[in-house]
Amino acid sequence: MFTEPSNIAQKSGWIEVVCGSMFSGKTEELIRRLKRAKIANQKVGIFKPQLDNRYHSSNIVSHNETTIPATAVNNAIEILKSANEFGVIGIDEAQFFDHQILDIVGQLANDGKRVIVAGLDMDYAGNPFGPMPQLLSIANFVTKLHAVCMQCGGVASYSYRISNNTNQVVIGEKDHYEARCRSCFHS
Ligand code: ADP
Ligand code: MG
Repeated sequence: MFTEPSNIAQKSGWIEVVCGSMFSGKTEELIRRLKRAKIANQKVGIFKPQLDNRYHSSNIVSHNETTIPATAVNNAIEILKSANEFGVIGIDEAQFFDHQILDIVGQLANDGKRVIVAGLDMDYAGNPFGPMPQLLSIANFVTKLHAVCMQCGGVASYSYRISNNTNQVVIGEKDHYEARCRSCFHS
């Protein structure tokens, strides 16, 4: 389990990235870290892209139905604009933001904030997703989570699309995707 760094005696902030396939527990882990920061009386700002309205227009909700209030934004600049009052910033579904998010999380961390970013590292075709590769590079802490392969029960790193759509972005759930291990993904 990831143990949060303490910001006592730490001059700058930092960037944490939580990645993995669908159903790997990214949102749960993000919510866990953010709830602990709230318990520690830190001011926590939570954001997600407007695009992801699967469960709720603003709240972040995991597949396990743990939830935390969030603000839906159209782009990463909106996060920067409303970040002033917060010491901790959480961002879910980061793969849906454009590359501007890289500068913005960098600025937030340089301003002394703890920035926790969760997102899919690969799309349904197994290719790196949006700004995630660069986010992983600039992160100070990286956690890669795994789901359970829905075919064989192995360790799943891939989000296999069970529908025929070939757009990179298809917002969906178990109706569109299942977690698969490398061998079941390619078979
Ligand atoms: P993510 O944000 O990575 O898509 P969530 O945090 O929303 O994942 O959900 C994780 C939860 O999904 C697990 O705790 C479990 O209850 C549920 N779940 C459903 N299918 C799977 C699977 N194939 N492997 C692991 N967890 C699964
Ligand atoms: Mg999620």
